[in-house]
Amino acid sequence: MTIEPVDSFATRAIHAGQDPEQVTGAVVVPIYQTSTFAQDVAGETRAGYDYSRAGNPTRTALETALASLEGGKFGYAFASGMAAADTALRAMMKPGDHLIMANDAYGGTFRLIDKILKPWGISYDAVPLADLDAVQAALRPETKLIWVETPTNPMLGIADIAALAEMAHASGAKLVVDNTFATPYLQTPLGLGADVVLHSTTKYLGGHSDVIGGALITNDPELGDAFGFYLKSMGGVAGPFDSWLTLRGIKTLAVRMDRHCDNAEEIVEMLLQHPKVGTVYYPGLEQHPGHQVAAGQMLRFGGMVSFTVVGGLEEAVKVVSRTRLFTLAESLGGVESLIEHPGLMTHASVVGSDLEVPSDLIRLSVGIEAIEDLLADLKDALD
Ligand SMILES: *Cc1c(COP(=O)(O)O)cnc(C)c1O
Repeated sequence: MTIEPVDSFATRAIHAGQDPEQVTGAVVVPIYQTSTFAQDVAGETRAGYDYSRAGNPTRTALETALASLEGGKFGYAFASGMAAADTALRAMMKPGDHLIMANDAYGGTFRLIDKILKPWGISYDAVPLADLDAVQAALRPETKLIWVETPTNPMLGIADIAALAEMAHASGAKLVVDNTFATPYLQTPLGLGADVVLHSTTKYLGGHSDVIGGALITNDPELGDAFGFYLKSMGGVAGPFDSWLTLRGIKTLAVRMDRHCDNAEEIVEMLLQHPKVGTVYYPGLEQHPGHQVAAGQMLRFGGMVSFTVVGGLEEAVKVVSRTRLFTLAESLGGVESLIEHPGLMTHASVVGSDLEVPSDLIRLSVGIEAIEDLLADLKDALD
C-alpha cells in the first residue's frame, strides 16, 4: 500500500507507515518489543535495524505517520514532549544564543529553558507572541529561535505562524511551533512556514491518557539529520509499546478532534451565559483578539477552554473539586474530560514570574463524552 500526500488526513492517520506486516500479513503494526536485531553477516542488518535506541520498526511506523500528518519529510518519536523539546533546543542552539518564547508558554517548557538551558548559556525573552511588534523588538543578532505555541496553554492566546516565520527567517532565526493543542488535524505549521513542529503526543495524538510521548517533525534535511543524531545519542526514544499506543490513538484523531471541537463549542456557549463565569477564553469566539488569525490558520478551534469564575481563587478551587465527570487532573487531550486549576497545578512553577496565570482561572480539556452530561456536570459545579 502506498500512501500519498494527497490522501486525506483521516486516511493517512490510519495507513501512513502502517502497511500490513510483510511476513504474516498482520494488519496492525506489531509491537517489536526487542532491544536488538540478529545479523546474518557482521555489520549487515536484515532491514536496517541493529539496536532499538537507534531505531525500532514500531517507532518507525509512528514516525512515518507523524511526518505524514504534519506534511513533513522527517519525523522522530521521543519518550516525552519534554525530551523532544530538549533535543530541539540543544540541536538548534548553542551557548551564547538567544531565543524568544511566549510569555504564557507551557510551564514545563518555561522550566526547561529557564532552569536548564539558561545555566547552559542560552538567554531568552518571554514576550506576548500575539504582539508582532513586541517580537520584532526582542529580536537580536544572536536570536536563533522563536518558540511558539498556538493556541497557548492555558490562556488560549493565538500567534500568527506565517508572520512569525517570516520575521524569524528575515533575521536568520528559525521557528519552532509546539502544535500540541491544535494537532495536525486542525493546523499544520510547516505549511505556514515553520521550520519544526513539536508535539507532546501524550495529549491529543495519543488521545487516551495512557502514554507519555513526544515528537519533532521537519522538512529541513539538516535539522532532520541533527534530530535523528541527537535522539539516538541522547537516548530519549519512544519505546515500542508507547509507540504502538500512540499509533493506535492517531488512527482515530480526525473523528476525536471533531467531537472535541463540537463539545467545546457548546460548553463555551453555556459558560458565556452563566452568571458565575467571568471571562471565557476560546479562539473560536469572535471577540477573542486572535480569532481572525486562528480562523485563517486553523480548521476549527480545538477542545481546550479556559475561563475565570466570579469569587476568585477560593471559588475556582471549589469549582474544580465539585465536578463529577470532569476529572480534576493535569494533562489534556484525552477522550475523558478533565478540569484543573492552572495556578495551583500545571502552572505552579511560573507563579511569581512573567508567566503567572490569573488565580481565578480554570482550564477544561473537553472530552468526547455526551455533551448533555458534560453541560449538566459543569452547571452543577458552578451553581
Ligand atoms: C504536555 C505538554 C508538553 C510536554 O509534554 P510531555 O509529554 O508532558 O513531556 C509540551 N507542550 C505542551 C503544549 C504540552 O501541553
